[in-house]
Amino acid sequence: SSQSALNFGAGPAKLPREVLSEVQNELLSFKDSGMSLMEMSHRSKEYSKINNDAQNAIRQLLNVPDNYKILFMQGGGTGAFAAVAMNLMNRTGSADYAVTGTWSGKAAKEAAKYGKVNLVFPKADKPGSIPAESTWTLNSNASYLYYCDNETVDGVEFHYIPNSKDVPIVCDMSSSIMTKHVDVSKFGCIIGGAQKNIGPAGVTVVIIREDLLGNPMQICPSVFDFTHINKENSVHNTPATFSVYVMEKVLQWIKKNGGVAAMEKQSAEKSKLLYDAMIQSNNFFSCPIDEDVRSRINIPFRVGGPQGNEELEAKFLEEAEKLKMYQLKGHRSVGGIRASLYNAVTSEDVTSLVKFMEEFKKRYG
Ligand code: PMP
Repeated sequence: SSQSALNFGAGPAKLPREVLSEVQNELLSFKDSGMSLMEMSHRSKEYSKINNDAQNAIRQLLNVPDNYKILFMQGGGTGAFAAVAMNLMNRTGSADYAVTGTWSGKAAKEAAKYGKVNLVFPKADKPGSIPAESTWTLNSNASYLYYCDNETVDGVEFHYIPNSKDVPIVCDMSSSIMTKHVDVSKFGCIIGGAQKNIGPAGVTVVIIREDLLGNPMQICPSVFDFTHINKENSVHNTPATFSVYVMEKVLQWIKKNGGVAAMEKQSAEKSKLLYDAMIQSNNFFSCPIDEDVRSRINIPFRVGGPQGNEELEAKFLEEAEKLKMYQLKGHRSVGGIRASLYNAVTSEDVTSLVKFMEEFKKRYG
């Protein structure tokens, strides 16, 4: 049936239906051209406009200051882990990493191929907390301090921007971009894959302070070279034109729906619905993450008590699918359930999930 699913996937994830239907309308003939945008040159005036409109939308939505450049790259978030090191580590040869979960862990590992990586606190056996900032060991000669704003797998989110003194901050916002206000001027560089809050897979957004450009490592491939990509206005080679096109539409959708402030308000409401339901359940549904670092966006929980009951969890997923609630399985590395509440996921979607949880507990709790 064409009834839309309730999609709680971690990424690629739910996109606004309005955007998909607009894409559908234009699929065979983009603006009366008689061809699809997919079939057009990345140097056409049509694509140039999309490229520029998308940049401008990001600049407007996030209030990006003039001395920051906005780039569209390929290689995903993972490609950006390497790109960050190759573009920014040259200054001192080392960088500080705050590893709070899976993705910052992978970023640190990738960066270690290109220079010296210092972990600012020892790696926790089990993520789910962030050590107090006062205990971090920062190095004043680090090229940058890196952290992941929202750990998609682990459900750990920073609710503040760390103080790095004069060291530029590099932040992975793949799963939190456009879900809350951020003061871009506090960052040296922001990276984010589009495939969660702002579009389909295939394009990675990089926002970078101008003065950090110009010092890539010799070995940096040109497709990962921020300085070069900026010079070429993100059309150095063929970009993921269709992905940028859909992303541009999602960005306009965010603007039309009240911008980042409205997304932030809804994000608070949606995550509260789910966390409140867990409290109501007396730990039948139970979130393993420290309260002060719980994510508003990717919410992991166990079913049947804090340790989780795998049989009940399998049943939970099976019954959820019967109600067309999909992609709720926790990441393979942590198990349990995970609900991802990106911008396109509505409060009604979350209310349906919460109702199902209450009903499930009545039967199995
Ligand atoms: N960073 C974060 C926070 C992520 O959630 C992900 C993907 N889930 C990545 C990086 C890696 O992105 P990609 O799969 O595009 O390489």
